[in-house]
Amino acid sequence: MRAPLQQIETSGELPQSADAVVIGGGIVGVFAAYYLARRGLKVALVEKGRIGAEQSSRNWGWCRQQNRDARELPMATRSLDLWDRFAMETGEDTGFRRCGLLYLSNDEAELAGWARWRDFARTAGVTTHMLDSAEASERGRATGRTWKGGVFSPTDGTADPSRAAPAVARAILKLGGSVLQNCAARGIETEGGRLSGVVTESGTIRTKTAIMAGGAWASSFCRQFGFRFPQASVRSSILSVSPGAEGLPDALHTARISATRRGDGGYTLAISGRGRVDVTPQQLRFSSQFVPMFLKRWRSLGPGGLQGVRSGHETLRRWRLDRPTPMERMRILDPAPDQWTIRLTHARALELLPDLRKTRISAAWAGYIDSTPDGVPAIGEVHSVPGFFLAAGFSGHGFGIGPGAGHLVADLVTGAEPIVDPTSYDPRRFDASSWGKVADF
Ligand SMILES: Cc1cc2nc3c(=O)[nH]c(=O)nc-3n(C[C@H](O)[C@H](O)[C@H](O)COP(=O)(O)OP(=O)(O)OC[C@H]3O[C@@H](n4cnc5c(N)ncnc54)[C@H](O)[C@@H]3O)c2cc1C
Repeated sequence: MRAPLQQIETSGELPQSADAVVIGGGIVGVFAAYYLARRGLKVALVEKGRIGAEQSSRNWGWCRQQNRDARELPMATRSLDLWDRFAMETGEDTGFRRCGLLYLSNDEAELAGWARWRDFARTAGVTTHMLDSAEASERGRATGRTWKGGVFSPTDGTADPSRAAPAVARAILKLGGSVLQNCAARGIETEGGRLSGVVTESGTIRTKTAIMAGGAWASSFCRQFGFRFPQASVRSSILSVSPGAEGLPDALHTARISATRRGDGGYTLAISGRGRVDVTPQQLRFSSQFVPMFLKRWRSLGPGGLQGVRSGHETLRRWRLDRPTPMERMRILDPAPDQWTIRLTHARALELLPDLRKTRISAAWAGYIDSTPDGVPAIGEVHSVPGFFLAAGFSGHGFGIGPGAGHLVADLVTGAEPIVDPTSYDPRRFDASSWGKVADF
């Protein structure tokens, strides 16, 4: 069974023109469209399948500052405020709660790393509590074990991946924006070198501004007009269990297993960082840029199969704008979960959290996590096509920072003071021969 997701009714008619067209209705696209619509822009959001149906409904739901890279921490902090504010502004429920995140470990080196991060985070005004053995064992009492230590980050939280993107899409509609599902953008048109329109399968929308928030599809889309965006995806497999377990932390990370309470009272279970590499032509093309990332993460990665080639999101093909494209053939990227990982995850979870034995597996699924070479998203204008903005490559962190990313896009499009310094996100950094260290997950 696929990851649960709320369905929403959306606008029927394709507008002939818009102030801004957002391509992709994941969490980043919906928040970008929402903040643009709040500023009075006439916004059209086009989604090739269903709102939220790819990565944005398949994740754990963590909205965290804890252990964030310095380049992303300010956006993570601002995003937590924006999650809160969104509920107040709209009355819509994304399931966001500042429940705090609990990390437990018996590994001295890991604990020392968390303590270093705590010291760095203090300089950015972020509170996180290191736990000694007694505190960690008490907070982790559902495991029935003694732990050497841990961290609790009280201001972090989770939102509900099955509800969040649809809730934001409803807010866009209330503001008068258009949200079109089953409507793929096939490409762009330019006049005098500037963006002048977005060509969709249902017609062309005249516009001077487009935002590509297409997740794992962004690079192949940009390739159509010659913009090179190094991007690769990894297939991550997770499962959910029914309600019934009691006394578990809302959000728990250990090296062997992570568990997150879901909106329905069940839990999402996963092994952090674990994934399979389904080799594609695009991955081979960008392989040299991803060597540092691979060296950092290879221990958690395993070889995959040909699913990535079949799904078409990383094709090197050029397509015509007057014929169906790979996006229309694959409305929802829904890779098969790796059954071995699902069994291992479930077995480890039952071992660590015995109360989970009262539950049953309710669903198992996979998602392609799209990544940049340095693990930091690409957000900014593509200077070779003025008016075209990129917001993709969220590298496993995009759900929690979706509100901040969408706000930053709206700032850059409207020329407002940016919510955070956009320098680290500038897509132009990939033109340089090196672009800094690889961020942690
Ligand atoms: C298993 C898993 C666990 C994760 N856990 C977390 C977590 O706990 N916390 C966290 O912060 N992040 C997490 N992530 C990462 C997070 O889910 C992503 O970074 C985030 O959802 C990316 O959002 P997005 O809007 O960029 O992309 P997506 O959600 O993938 O949305 C892109 C959308 O664009 C559409 N699209 C693409 N091309 C076109 C086109 N040409 N025309 C129209 N529509 C198009 C697609 O159909 C899709 O709906 C996890 C991811 C996975 C898979």
